[in-house]
Amino acid sequence: MLRVAIIGGGPSGMMAAIEAAKGIGRGIQSVTLFEQEPKLGRKLAVTGAGRCNLSNDGVQASAYHGPDIDWMETLLERFAVEDLERVLYRLGIPIYKTDDGWYYPLSQSAASVVSILEERLVGQGVTMRVATTVKRVSYSQERKFILSFTDNTSGQNYTEDFDKLIVASGGKSYPELGAKGRFFSQLEALGHSINPLCPALGPIDVHLGSFTALKGLRFDAHTAIYDGDECLGRSFGNLIFTKNGLNGPGVMNLSHLVSQNPKKSLELELNFIGQWIEELAETATDEANQSSLRALLLRYFTPKAVDFFISETGLNPNKQVQQLTEADFQRLFKTLSMARFPITGAGDYSNSQLTAGGVATEELDPCTLESKIVPGLFIVGEAIDVFGPCGGYNLHIAFATAYLAGKTLAESNNKFKET
Ligand SMILES: Cc1cc2nc3c(=O)[nH]c(=O)nc-3n(C[C@H](O)[C@H](O)[C@H](O)COP(=O)(O)OP(=O)(O)OC[C@H]3O[C@@H](n4cnc5c(N)ncnc54)[C@H](O)[C@@H]3O)c2cc1C
Repeated sequence: MLRVAIIGGGPSGMMAAIEAAKGIGRGIQSVTLFEQEPKLGRKLAVTGAGRCNLSNDGVQASAYHGPDIDWMETLLERFAVEDLERVLYRLGIPIYKTDDGWYYPLSQSAASVVSILEERLVGQGVTMRVATTVKRVSYSQERKFILSFTDNTSGQNYTEDFDKLIVASGGKSYPELGAKGRFFSQLEALGHSINPLCPALGPIDVHLGSFTALKGLRFDAHTAIYDGDECLGRSFGNLIFTKNGLNGPGVMNLSHLVSQNPKKSLELELNFIGQWIEELAETATDEANQSSLRALLLRYFTPKAVDFFISETGLNPNKQVQQLTEADFQRLFKTLSMARFPITGAGDYSNSQLTAGGVATEELDPCTLESKIVPGLFIVGEAIDVFGPCGGYNLHIAFATAYLAGKTLAESNNKFKET
């Protein structure tokens, strides 16, 4: 009978433990979950601003950064959005979808999700060792994983061996919520390659110049990052002007490009009217339209934003739309759709939601997440070099990888017994 250890009690570790524990009594003797924090799922509890954005209709291989597309396709064929919906429903977490395809629990509460998973762990007989940090792991000739860990409450050190190990230790982001990236060195020591780590899904700092006047205002805008004439990436989403630049999904989806290119002089382009440009052009050229320039823009923006945009163009806000010249329109469109700002930096691990980089996916089987280097070792969740945009893409991967690894162990029955 196998003794299974799981390092990390975030969403991926909890899901992996619940699945693996289904094999207890049928090939698995015990499942032990190690979490260094006194509570499980501290980061999960704050996701989606406390509402827990679990997945997205846009989940598909091409939406993710990191692995080659075939690896990602194989993984998502085995665990698509419908699979997550089914698995969570069975655990007692029904989910629903917003009009724009973002999935949340019916409770709209990340704290409820954590509590349900905790109850399931207890119910399935998982041995929980919270406030316990796994410091070292070694792999013996007998193919056992020897874990050295410290009980953080008593300060006592222990060593125990296990037959199978699932590493769900996360990345480096928001270290105060648990994961600090310290376990990557152990994975490296076991022979795994760790692709360069950097903060992702964070704010982008820019020289706002006169646009500082928009501080505190939110827009749905198209964003793009340029290195000279070369566009490194585009996104669309809600963003907010801050003291140092911009924050919100519209820029967070691009922040890794800034972190990955620290030496380049990058620029951020904002297009505030991309989604309305045709409507605006039609309205502006409609001969029956008797409105002023200010009234035209008030269709799309708040008065504060409109007054700022018009002052940037230098045009008279009361000028009738019909009297605007071609040159006036050019000035207007330039301000509204091609505003460019020099980038001065991006968020660090303290304010970026994710860690890009991590364990190289080619070293893991995408069907089971088992290591191709160390048999019996599985690596899941944010520790792997895969990340997606804001919108539930990353919890989807945490749950998908964990489910597949846990299920593989639960169904192994006697398959692993002799190894
Ligand atoms: C503010 C914020 C909001 C977010 N919102 C969303 C969202 O709405 N939707 C979405 O898809 N994603 C969101 N994310 C990202 C999402 O939280 C992560 O993708 C997810 O938590 C990764 O899960 P994980 O289990 O792999 O890692 P983690 O959640 O980081 O869990 C890893 C756990 O392992 C423990 N650990 C590490 N090393 C050891 C060790 N040596 N011994 C014992 N324990 C150890 C850590 O303490 C930690 O609890 C958000 C992230 C943040 C920071």
